[in-house]
Amino acid sequence: MNTLLLSDSQKDIETAGEILRNGGLVGIPTETVYGLAANALDGAAVRKIFEAKGRPMDNPLIVHIQDISEIRKFSLVREFPEKAEKLAEAYWSGPLTMIMPKGNAVPDEVSAGLDTVAIRFPEHKTAQRIIKAAGVPLAAPSANLSGSPSPTTAAHVMNDMNGRIDAVVDGGECRVGLESTVITLVPKKPRLLRPGGITVEDIESVIGEIDIDDAVLNKLRDGEQAASPGMKYKHYAPKARVVLIKGSDEAFADYVNSHSGKEVAALCYEEDKALTVPVFSLGKKGDYSSQAHLLFDSLREIDKKGGLKLVYARCPETDGVGLAVYNRLIRAAGFEVIDLEKI
Ligand code: AMP
Ligand code: MG
Repeated sequence: MNTLLLSDSQKDIETAGEILRNGGLVGIPTETVYGLAANALDGAAVRKIFEAKGRPMDNPLIVHIQDISEIRKFSLVREFPEKAEKLAEAYWSGPLTMIMPKGNAVPDEVSAGLDTVAIRFPEHKTAQRIIKAAGVPLAAPSANLSGSPSPTTAAHVMNDMNGRIDAVVDGGECRVGLESTVITLVPKKPRLLRPGGITVEDIESVIGEIDIDDAVLNKLRDGEQAASPGMKYKHYAPKARVVLIKGSDEAFADYVNSHSGKEVAALCYEEDKALTVPVFSLGKKGDYSSQAHLLFDSLREIDKKGGLKLVYARCPETDGVGLAVYNRLIRAAGFEVIDLEKI
């Protein structure tokens, strides 16, 4: 299949809408990462997403809308909990996905057979225009091959999906750069399943205390059920082995320099100096938004450079948006961490 590269002109947005209405797949820009979209109400179209990505069928998708009224109009949920309404008022449109009891219009392919559905109203104007042009809500996971870093530019999408999908709409670089925050409103006490651009602190300021799912910070034990199926897979990983290094600026530099070699690189803050190996940027120290924005691009650059077998990465902080950066990077590292204060 020949994959069309579309712009965000009105004519091209209409072409994307028509492809989606007819059951095709389109890569779309959002403020988080690029999504791989299909008509969320068409089970056969949604199945093609899993095929194109090589995504396990038990990993459900997020349904994207461009107006809150569409939740009722398309019978997407059985119930819209009061706390969800409050969060929608505060943070939609934006990088927040809410899980609610599934409505009967949503095919099982979208929810991977679960009785719940994930919904998001993206803030990116081009995403909103595409959903509007399609005239239906769009199911969309990230537009990468399953397991590789999520795409934050149209070129990343083309790199993974050229020949596998109908079109990609180029809407520039994604502002946030990490996938949306996912929270479930199904239990009485809402629970964070995946950290993202809307932080725990942001959410608690609107609906009070929430739980944080164990899988956000820790590796699932063998046989343990994942509340969010996506959390159980190795994710976001470049081909090189990534190891997180916990420690001060000096301790990090000393460790990397004394373990350097031809196939070694560092993923570090822009302020980090005097490293004797090639470096890739993890943004500015203490500036979690810049870290989120750069992380996936840097992971892809590591692969592009070729020949690298081992990458030592700074260990992100876990407050604010830092929690989301940590959550992704620890998965890219397969939970391998060296704590320099303990050796
Ligand atoms: P992606 O858009 O590729 O980042 O994947 C969507 C994420 O949302 C995955 O981690 C899914 O496991 C999660 N998700 C989607 N629907 C549900 C649901 N009904 N319950 C729990 N997690 C969900
Ligand atoms: Mg994904």
